[in-house]
Amino acid sequence: MRRFLSALLSLALLCASAAQDAGANPPAPAPDAVPPAIPQAAQPVSPQAAQPVSPQEAPAPAAIPLPALPAEIRPGDVLLVRLPRPESGTPAGEAVLKSPAGTVLQRAAGFRLGPEPGRTAFVFGLPTDAPAGIYTVEIPGGPGILPALSRHSVTVRPRDFLAEDIPLSTNLTTLRVEPSPRKDEEARVYADILGRVDPDGIWLDGPFLRPVASDRRTSRFGDRRRYLYATGGTASAVHAGIDFAAPTGTPVVAAGRGRVVLAADREVTGKTVVLEHLPGVYTVYMHLDSLSVAPGAVLERGARLGTVGSTGLATGPHLHWELRVRGVACDPETPAFAVFPAGP
Ligand SMILES: [Zn+2]
Repeated sequence: MRRFLSALLSLALLCASAAQDAGANPPAPAPDAVPPAIPQAAQPVSPQAAQPVSPQEAPAPAAIPLPALPAEIRPGDVLLVRLPRPESGTPAGEAVLKSPAGTVLQRAAGFRLGPEPGRTAFVFGLPTDAPAGIYTVEIPGGPGILPALSRHSVTVRPRDFLAEDIPLSTNLTTLRVEPSPRKDEEARVYADILGRVDPDGIWLDGPFLRPVASDRRTSRFGDRRRYLYATGGTASAVHAGIDFAAPTGTPVVAAGRGRVVLAADREVTGKTVVLEHLPGVYTVYMHLDSLSVAPGAVLERGARLGTVGSTGLATGPHLHWELRVRGVACDPETPAFAVFPAGP
């Protein structure tokens, strides 16, 4: 079954890349370079044309550099938007992501990114159930930034997720379904941490790396799961991360530079570490056998934070790796962080 699913996944990926290649313009991020000025001014001016200036020939206003953002993303991707000029400030308002129907999905305050003087960036997390279509990013204007509110289109392509059944033992069924004050309290603390957006929480300085030396994926991001309880019932859930199988004790490292905001033994997710990378952007490492960090520590990319285990609700030793953007579960292998920071 797994082999079949993997084959299906490979096929889907193949189809996706084939579809991408077929396009005349590959979906590269918008260029950072200032677009060429409207060529009017560069054209030789004939004596006739130099006569009274018609409205069409009036000097063009200075070209406005466009923000850099990808033309296309998929459900579960991170949408990173960067303003074009290092000298530009941070808009006072928030950028807004709107669905094809015009509904506001997320609001994001700008933050400074990259070496000084840096650029202003906004980050959004697209949920796995986001329908395909043309979405809009609205970016506020401000002195020295963009002259006014501007709107930019992003195409969300369809994405298929796989289905999987997870049979649970009696113990794991109990762990998942039994109400417990400890579980409730841990869930409250966890949601509080992942919902935090600290404007000074800027640590990430390079692309994410795979946090464990294993490429054996036993569950993929966004899998539509059905838990089969030992008691006979079932429950549905979306897999919020990627599972890598590895022997107990295999080192687990920070996917990117970040600050430890949680390192605790939790009832359902076992020994768990949460790293803050950017304002509202976190990675999570679950079911660890041991923890080697404490809250407050800043870890460099690749620094060890613990070891693979099967603590909490786990059917065998593996690393469950998550990426959260303002609480929304996103694909940890999203292109935005695979090449981060893109461009100059
Ligand atoms: Zn998992």
